[in-house]
Amino acid sequence: MRKPYIAGNWKMNLTPSEGAKLAAELKDQLKGVDVKVMIAPSFVTLPAVVEAVKGSNIIVAAQNVSDKESGAYTGEVSCQMLKDLGVNDVIIGHSERRSYYGENDEWINRKVKYALSQGMNIDLCVGETLDERKGGHLKEVLSRQIKVGLSDVSAKDMERITIAYEPVWAIGTGMTATSDDADDAHAYIRGLIESLYGKTVAENTIIQYGGSVKASNAKELLARKNIDGALVGGASLSADKFVPIVKCALE
Ligand code: PEP
Repeated sequence: MRKPYIAGNWKMNLTPSEGAKLAAELKDQLKGVDVKVMIAPSFVTLPAVVEAVKGSNIIVAAQNVSDKESGAYTGEVSCQMLKDLGVNDVIIGHSERRSYYGENDEWINRKVKYALSQGMNIDLCVGETLDERKGGHLKEVLSRQIKVGLSDVSAKDMERITIAYEPVWAIGTGMTATSDDADDAHAYIRGLIESLYGKTVAENTIIQYGGSVKASNAKELLARKNIDGALVGGASLSADKFVPIVKCALE
């Protein structure tokens, strides 16, 4: 049985004080709600948010991490630094990291392996661009992103990996994949995981959908067999929008 998992990626939004305020509202409004919830503030907002959610089950994650331990890597943040703050979860391979900052599948795989070696839990993002989908390359792209992204990751380590399927054309655009299209892509990803790790791992792997998720479409998406949660961008920036999405996972 896969427990629904709803995550909020705050991207480059919310200062530490704004983030602490939202985190406190979420802590209050999600008290007793039996859904796994994660929020991912910017690096500088992490300490304030970690403090604000203390005493709740809300997971605080980073939006990115270095594949290196330490050293002369200006602007980078290490797993050790995150763990020192009490942050044990990280989003890796978001399409904005891939497209704006040149992260390719090999680099993403190095981050995945290093973060796993440091005991972290990972939300690995995959998804096709509109051109790739229109060109009939959806399966090829997902297959490459999953196989290379998870290269040398063991079946045991898969317990600490969540996959987020995020069609790039649906992120921040207001366009959502239909629940049929999303479920088909999720089923394909689950099949890839089965081919790599076997049926039990595939059945236990949480696959979130991301791309303009809001309260009005979350219920239909989350009702689908292969959609186990959501990675939410824009609608995670206020409790009014995010809490109803989390509650859709209860139904
Ligand atoms: C995201 O950034 O992961 C995302 C899905 O954004 P949005 O919900 O705004 O489309």
